Amino acid sequence: MSDASQGAFPDAIGLEALDSAASWQQRYQQSLMGVFGTPQELLTHGSGCWVTDSTGRKLLDMLAGIAVNALGHAHPALVKGISDQARQLIHVSNLFTSVPQMRLAEMLINAAEAPVGSRVFFANSGSEANEAALKAVLRHREHTGKQRILALEGGFHGRTLGALSLTHKPAFRQPFGELIPGVEFLPFDDLTALEEAFAGTGHPTGDIAGIFLEPIQGEAGIRPLSPQYLRQARQLTRQHGALLVYDEVQTGIGRTGEWFRFHGVARELASVDTEGAALRAELAPDLMTLAKGLGSGVPIGALVAFGPQNGTLLGAGQHGSTFGGNPLAALAGQITLETIQSEELLTNAHRVGEQLAGQLRNLPEVAQVRQFGLHIGVDLAAAAFGHRQAPAKDLVTTAREDHQLIINATGEYTLRLAPPLILSADEAQIFLTRFTAALKELV
Ligand SMILES: *Cc1c(COP(=O)(O)O)cnc(C)c1O
Repeated sequence: MSDASQGAFPDAIGLEALDSAASWQQRYQQSLMGVFGTPQELLTHGSGCWVTDSTGRKLLDMLAGIAVNALGHAHPALVKGISDQARQLIHVSNLFTSVPQMRLAEMLINAAEAPVGSRVFFANSGSEANEAALKAVLRHREHTGKQRILALEGGFHGRTLGALSLTHKPAFRQPFGELIPGVEFLPFDDLTALEEAFAGTGHPTGDIAGIFLEPIQGEAGIRPLSPQYLRQARQLTRQHGALLVYDEVQTGIGRTGEWFRFHGVARELASVDTEGAALRAELAPDLMTLAKGLGSGVPIGALVAFGPQNGTLLGAGQHGSTFGGNPLAALAGQITLETIQSEELLTNAHRVGEQLAGQLRNLPEVAQVRQFGLHIGVDLAAAAFGHRQAPAKDLVTTAREDHQLIINATGEYTLRLAPPLILSADEAQIFLTRFTAALKELV
């Protein structure tokens, strides 16, 4: 053949053959790793709290990409910002910097009320933010000889090997054999166990280098640590020279109606409003990790190290990332924070979250509601569902298929709601109507 184009441009991707008649489910199963199972829907576009699937059905999104799309879908400020940024610079590597990168770091330090000398490291995900935090704790371990690292039962910190070492669920860890040594899991919110762990001087493996806590466990079904537990963890870590790490990957950046959950804990502990600032300072961690809502859908994670000592635990060359904090992702973070402030979304999260919780608590099929802003766990009343096993999963399917509602199950009887922070009172009402109808269909 003398076709000049054949040798020059071989169709290695098989672009023409890809246009097959197979269903999207078949295409997915034949090309993507089965780690997630088959997805629930093929989605094509979204606007605000609504997403549209490939058959044109419009669904109310009460999950927001698992607490990620803080500004909802296609928020005009985010769309304009990242479009403009894409025209200027998308990526420069960390051999260079950009204004959005510095700006976002400054904004995070300010929002966290972190002291002078605090520093930020940017990554691309929650797991990676926790990897950076764990490496900082391992540096502290090297400096001090303190060997033990604590995490909590039910905790989730990610799937990369370091973060996985801190993640409790055996089914996630055991397939991979031995991970980071020295990690111990304490029972959830158990003050006595915490005190005993720190009292264990002369423990065979030595003293404690650090403890990783989710102020509210997200994957475990929106389970809050009591304010007393967080306060005691802070006191004990200070007293024993251990690092306190808050994993605020899911709870941070306005999800709970505060910039960070530990600010909410300070508010709950304060007997008068004026105590708030002092309690926020008292409860401030050594290290805090962020991701999910930070970029409102553009992948970005961050480690905030509080104060000059923690800010320099990782020295030059001791950590890095090719993409971390690139101008596009950092700009998305900047716009997310700016918009949460300008649209008063912290207040909105409180108000609409309370509206949802108040009405959910009135439903006979609901046993308990744990609500922190728009971070809401709903336990179903087993009795209302007769002998049906794991009704939460069925409810997710019924809600989606018959009522055009996206919700999420974290357990057999537990649902998680984590809608965009822009959810309006009217949309909350639409949710409640549809959710009630889905419940009636199942019981
Ligand atoms: C989601 C999550 C992670 C992991 O984040 P990825 O971006 O999936 O790596 C870590 N910690 C908590 C608390 C999370 O909710």
